[in-house]
Amino acid sequence: MSISRRKFLKLSAAGLVGAVVIERTYDYLSESKAKGKIVIIGGGAAGITIAAYLSKRLRHDDITIIEPETTHRYQPGYTLIAAGIFTPEEIERPTASLIPSGVKLLKDRVVELDPDKNRVITAQAGAIAYDFLVVAPGCQVNFNLVEGITQPTLGAGNVHCIYDFEGAQKCRDAVKKLPALKGGQLIFTDTYTKMKCGGAPKKIALLAEDYLRKNQARDRFTFSYFSNENVLMKPKVFGDRLAVIYTERKIGVRYLHRLASVDTQAKKAVFHQVPEHTTKSLPAGHAFEKVTVDFDFLHFVPPMSAPDFVRNSPLTSAEERPKGGWVTVDKHTLVHARYPNVVALGDVAGTPTSKTAAAIRMQAPVAAANLISLMEGKPPGIKYNGYSACPIITEYGKVLMCEFGYDEKLLPTLPFLDPAIERGMWWTLKVHGLMPMYYRGMLKGLV
Ligand SMILES: Cc1cc2nc3c(=O)[nH]c(=O)nc-3n(C[C@H](O)[C@H](O)[C@H](O)COP(=O)(O)OP(=O)(O)OC[C@H]3O[C@@H](n4cnc5c(N)ncnc54)[C@H](O)[C@@H]3O)c2cc1C
Repeated sequence: MSISRRKFLKLSAAGLVGAVVIERTYDYLSESKAKGKIVIIGGGAAGITIAAYLSKRLRHDDITIIEPETTHRYQPGYTLIAAGIFTPEEIERPTASLIPSGVKLLKDRVVELDPDKNRVITAQAGAIAYDFLVVAPGCQVNFNLVEGITQPTLGAGNVHCIYDFEGAQKCRDAVKKLPALKGGQLIFTDTYTKMKCGGAPKKIALLAEDYLRKNQARDRFTFSYFSNENVLMKPKVFGDRLAVIYTERKIGVRYLHRLASVDTQAKKAVFHQVPEHTTKSLPAGHAFEKVTVDFDFLHFVPPMSAPDFVRNSPLTSAEERPKGGWVTVDKHTLVHARYPNVVALGDVAGTPTSKTAAAIRMQAPVAAANLISLMEGKPPGIKYNGYSACPIITEYGKVLMCEFGYDEKLLPTLPFLDPAIERGMWWTLKVHGLMPMYYRGMLKGLV
């Protein structure tokens, strides 16, 4: 019996998804009679996933998700939109269709947190009281912190950013046009703050390079990657492998460079050279070495932080605020350091892990179990190990699967494989397996 290549790829992806699912232990499934009103801020990846776990276990569940957007997007798909593999439409679902049954959805926006009075203030409904709070409003992408660029004008001067839904589509169109150009200088950069999916700017650089090679136009272009850090990636095993790939593909790397401003008319980018990596903004008035670079195409990442209503709230700390104002939770239990009826997970959580949907897949059952323990008057006992995963697409057809936890510990799903080798099977998983797993598994609290 012969099967088509497409069917084979789909079956392989299903097998890989199976392997990924089996590796999880289900020790948090017992029913609980605990009572209390739970408010979840944010109906994104983290908010919906934890709602699924909570509603499954709580017999008397009273859960409300506050979410302003009516459309949910699978953000890891933004890179694949820019690569011309996914269409924008296929990554979208109506938010309401993803909410677990029995969970209430309030279309509103939280503007203030008042944890001392156990209430949040929203733009429309005003004060909403809770017994237990889940904080999951994701990252704020601060386009305004790079001078000369705004979100609506992304694409002007061939300056792009795939951390934006429209931006990913503009980037895709621009890369497609590159082979028709006489040549030019392509530059890519990350950012100094903690950011969601730190691998995404590396992926788009490698994809654009591969696209030009496959279109016999590579020789006419130079590629440079400006990193804010002094390594391409942590853990070291992945950073080392990426450094080799970048060298082989002639993508020059400049470390400790921070994008300060862009002139989209003159096509010049100004970087500050910093003596060491820090996630804080640079002190005003200090004379940092400036480097001006001409470009024909620029992909950049804006600095990110917790949303302002979180950053300005008691849920972060004075020490954490200049570094982004992430919610100060225990990195293992995800319970707030000072408010024991509050948990945070997803991009907004102040844990020293890489901010990804893959991390949320592991955080959500832990945060749900610990919240239920607190509701039952017990101490939070289940620990998150910092797991995160970043599938770095190194070329069309290959992915370096980077899976790791706290302290750069490698946590491979398939430990018998060398993690430092990019493979076609991980590409199959990335392109055919992970989005179905996200929508049909993770958001339903199944994987
Ligand atoms: C380009 C790109 C590539 C990526 N690649 C990968 C990858 O390969 N693998 C991977 O695992 N992850 C990847 N990620 C990261 C992943 O998408 C995020 O880590 C994940 O979506 C974070 O989930 P979250 O729920 O914390 O935040 P989000 O999914 O952003 O959801 C936050 C929700 O909160 C809502 N909200 C915001 N403010 C308020 C408010 N004031 N009141 C109420 N609600 C509010 C928002 O509308 C949103 O729906 C990528 C992300 C991007 C942008």
